[in-house]
Amino acid sequence: MSAPNPKLDPEGAKAFLQRPRALLTAQEQQLQYILRLHSHPMPCPLCEHPNDQFHSADDTKQVGELYDGKYQCVKCGIELRPIVPFVRLAEPGWHWRLADDARQVLLRLWTEHRAAG
Ligand SMILES: [Zn+2]
Repeated sequence: MSAPNPKLDPEGAKAFLQRPRALLTAQEQQLQYILRLHSHPMPCPLCEHPNDQFHSADDTKQVGELYDGKYQCVKCGIELRPIVPFVRLAEPGWHWRLADDARQVLLRLWTEHRAAG
């Protein structure tokens, strides 16, 4: 059992999200929940463009499966990491952080820029 990836199958994902909870199996309910949270766009820390976890991933990301690929902002292209804080205050309960490599590159550019004065 899997749920449609909204990047690859937008109509299928939309239909899956609209299915009444009462008609879903426990596993389908869990996938619907994950699909809803990960489809919620959150702002890129660099350019503030809203990105969901499917459109910023490559095509191998599956709903509810571990994902080994990279996330990138669809607008500025910076590499992102989804972060789930210990205390989840409200849905979707996650936000983006710049990937470590991306932060290092930006820090180096900024330091060079300041030094060039
Ligand atoms: Zn961005």
